[in-house]
Amino acid sequence: MPRVIVFLLTLVLTHPAHAEGFITRLLNKPVPGGVAVVDLGDGATAPQVRYQDKPALVIREDGQHWIAILGIPLTAAPGVQQVEIDGNQRSFKIEQREYRAQHITLKNKRQVNPNPDDLKRIQQELAEQTEAYRQFSPNQPSNLLFDKPVDGPLSSPFGLRRFFNGEERNPHSGLDFAAKTGTPIKAPAAGRVILIGNYFFNGKTVFIDHGQGLISMFCHLSEIDVKVGNQLARGEVLGKVGATGRATGPHLHWNVSLNDARVDPAIFIGAFKP
Ligand code: ZN
Repeated sequence: MPRVIVFLLTLVLTHPAHAEGFITRLLNKPVPGGVAVVDLGDGATAPQVRYQDKPALVIREDGQHWIAILGIPLTAAPGVQQVEIDGNQRSFKIEQREYRAQHITLKNKRQVNPNPDDLKRIQQELAEQTEAYRQFSPNQPSNLLFDKPVDGPLSSPFGLRRFFNGEERNPHSGLDFAAKTGTPIKAPAAGRVILIGNYFFNGKTVFIDHGQGLISMFCHLSEIDVKVGNQLARGEVLGKVGATGRATGPHLHWNVSLNDARVDPAIFIGAFKP
């Protein structure tokens, strides 16, 4: 066989079907609370993908092949997981990630052990917010490499196991930015405002649907500058930093959700640390 053909054959056999694209390199962090990117090939139309019985985000990478971008819940166990692609099962692997513990002291004990009326309110608010996270609009996100929503350093990372006054509560579902009260909060990508509220834990809150189950939540605002139904451009101001709800001081808490799984927002701003 001519040497050039041997060389070309070697190239074909040793390289995967697709070079890993920018989005895959940026987002593929298959850990609990992370993101798994699954290559779907070159079909003419987008495959239908479901993960944990929910529709998943599918886009074309580099104008060629399709990829599914799956949000992995923080509660997922490391090991082999299944994703459904056009009705067929495909497996992928979730690796381990350790999350640190954080101890917080709150003067307001009702924020640690709410009274029965508070609990009723909290349950109702949780249902409302869960419904928002489960929305799935067909539009494609404007950008998957997000802009930082505020100018300010990162403070508490995602996934911390949290103890309030020594009692364990839900882990930290988002990423915190240290910023002064009144600092403008900008949409990290275009999207539609799907829910606003003033919640027991989250304070003044805005939900933005970026498309295909990719949803942002911004909490503890001092001021909300948008209304439900508003279509926001990338970078548009949605409100101001504050300390409403369960907060020890002014900061922005930002959640990112994919297929109803809260994932580490640091992944989307290129700040993920394994
Ligand atoms: Zn937070």
